[in-house]
Amino acid sequence: MAKVRLENIVKRFGNVVAVNNINLEIRDKEFVVLLGPSGCGKTTTLRIIAGLEYPDEGRVYIDDRDVTDLEPKDRDIAMVFQNYALYPHMTVFDNIAFPLMIKRKKLGLTKEDIRKKVYEIAKLLKIEDLLKRKPGQLSGGQQQRVALARALIRRPKVWLMDEPLSNLDALLRLEMRAELKRLQKRLGITTVYVTHDQAEALSMADRIAVMNKGRIVQVGTPEEIYLKPKHVFVGTFIGSPPMNIVKCVVMVENNKYYLDCPGFRREIPKTLTKIVRENMKIILGIRPEFVEVSKKPLPDSIKAKILVVEPQGSEAILNLDINPEGEETLIKVKTRVTERFSSGEIIYLKPDWTRIAIFDYETGKALE
Ligand code: ATP
Repeated sequence: MAKVRLENIVKRFGNVVAVNNINLEIRDKEFVVLLGPSGCGKTTTLRIIAGLEYPDEGRVYIDDRDVTDLEPKDRDIAMVFQNYALYPHMTVFDNIAFPLMIKRKKLGLTKEDIRKKVYEIAKLLKIEDLLKRKPGQLSGGQQQRVALARALIRRPKVWLMDEPLSNLDALLRLEMRAELKRLQKRLGITTVYVTHDQAEALSMADRIAVMNKGRIVQVGTPEEIYLKPKHVFVGTFIGSPPMNIVKCVVMVENNKYYLDCPGFRREIPKTLTKIVRENMKIILGIRPEFVEVSKKPLPDSIKAKILVVEPQGSEAILNLDINPEGEETLIKVKTRVTERFSSGEIIYLKPDWTRIAIFDYETGKALE
């Protein structure tokens, strides 16, 4: 059993506040991804959990024990970084055995015990055939597996990974994503994983903590993060292409509330009329995949002009201007390729209004 708790963590480097009051609980056996743009504080947060950085404020708990003042080696954690940091002069076997060899006496293990453990973990990672080689004789993917095996051989309480797949080519990265997730579930190790790749986060995490400028903006399951972003930052950071943003103004006519948007107007759902006020500026968040596209006008549809078509195999991304008679307003929609679309064509859009997010223009927060 291992859970990790970060309480009011602050870390500064000179004038830079790298981590700004983070609170996060990672449950036993959970796979939590820290996701955010470059420089948002992901690595610093991970290094604080590892004990490689000391926080200026706040405490770190593993299983309710305050470990803030403990050395990394006393925290029962294992880390895998982007560069695998294998020992080049040692064989794969010796690299994997190393964390046990240095503590052999303390752990009360014989060389035979260690040999068995190396074979066991090598089998799990499908690298039994490579044990006699040196790291220089391995591909990037194989080196990565060796680094994972070395991290896991001690069966640590907590597994910390910092962009471990970013040196691999695209295909191998996809394969390793699924494999890492399977491994984590099979071994049941509480895991914190850092990435700036939203697709990686969505596909691997039990929960994602989205970070921006040293803070956690939202924590939730991939579904929650994707379907119910609590902040416009989350909506526009996640998705491929990300959520479209359309700025609109609230209008009131005959006691009815409307959204006045570039190229269209729409009555505001009853549930929201209590929160908005006349002339309030809001942001509509429209996911490219939640828009029906038609060549013929549909009731209540939005007229749009196709600027560019980006074919994606079975799907296409249409780059559109939804205000062809006014100031250009660009959005992207994703559509299955059942009809041919070409640039310059006028089409009609029906967003799924149940899946549209509405954010406050001033604060960026979702209106619920
Ligand atoms: P990336 O995805 O690029 O690795 P990150 O989200 O992991 O970014 P951090 O590496 O945690 O971000 O850095 C957060 C902020 O702290 C950045 O502004 C960075 O420049 C700064 N920073 C990190 N480490 C140090 C350091 N040792 N000295 C000074 N500033 C640092």
